[in-house]
Amino acid sequence: MRTPIIGGNWKMNLNAGDGADLAESIAEGLARGPLGAEVVMFPAFPYLALIADVVESTPPMLGAQDAHQEASGAFTGEVSLPMLEDCGVEWVLVGHSERRHVIGESNEIVREKLHAALNAGFSVILCTGELKEERESGRQLEVNRAQLAHALEGLPAAALSRLVIAYEPVWAIGTGLTATPEDAQEVHADLRAALAEHYDQGVADAVRIQYGGSVKPANAAELFAKPDVDGFLVGGASLKSADFLDIINAVTAAKAEGQA
Ligand code: PEP
Repeated sequence: MRTPIIGGNWKMNLNAGDGADLAESIAEGLARGPLGAEVVMFPAFPYLALIADVVESTPPMLGAQDAHQEASGAFTGEVSLPMLEDCGVEWVLVGHSERRHVIGESNEIVREKLHAALNAGFSVILCTGELKEERESGRQLEVNRAQLAHALEGLPAAALSRLVIAYEPVWAIGTGLTATPEDAQEVHADLRAALAEHYDQGVADAVRIQYGGSVKPANAAELFAKPDVDGFLVGGASLKSADFLDIINAVTAAKAEGQA
C-alpha cells in the first residue's frame, strides 16, 4: 500500500516569524498523532534554514519550491541543489504550474531540474496539469501524459522511488475551483497507466500521485477516497495550521478506515 503524502506549498507568502509559528504549530499538531501520511512543507528560500531548525526531529519534512539545475555558477538570483542540501532540505518541487506558466519554464527545463534533483539525492514532487482551455477541449489526458513523458525521458526506474507526481489542473490552483473526485481519478489513473507503459506495472503501482488544486478540509476526504489519489499538494489551505492539519487528519482517518 502506498503511504499517503501531503505537501504544503507556501509560495511567496509569510515572513520569518509567521513561517516559524506555522511550522511549529504543524509540528505540534502532528505530534499529537496518529499520523497516517508523510508531510512536507515548502517555505520560501530565505526561511528554509530557519524552518529546518523549527521542524528538526519532528515529522514534517522540508522542501524547496524550486532549484536550479546547475550545481554552481553565474546564474544570478538562482539557488542550487547543494545550497538547499546545506539548509536541511530533502524535497524539491519541480514544474509547478506557476513556474511553467508564469515564470515560463519549458518542458526541457523541468526535465533538467527533475533529473538534477534526483541525481543529487533529493526526493521530488513533479507537477503536471492542464490549462482551462485544454480541459475544455478534452485534452487533459494528452497534456498530462506529454508533460510526464518529457520529464521522465532518460530517467532509470530506480530513480522513481524518490519521485512523487502531483496532478494539478491549472484552472483549479488558487481559484477555489476543485476537480471532481472523478475528474482527478481519471487523470491519476491515466498517469499511472503511462508509468506502466514507460517502466512496468510494479513501478507504476509504487509511485504516489497527489492531487492539487483548491484542496480544503471540506473536500479532502472525497478526493482521497479515489483509488489513485495518494495525497495532496496544498497551497492556500497550507498557510493555516488548522486547515492543513484537518486535511492531514482526514487522510489519516481514511487510511485507518481502509486498513480496518
Ligand atoms: C498549489 O500551489 O500547488 C496549489 C494547489 O494551490 P491551492 O491549493 O491554493 O489551489
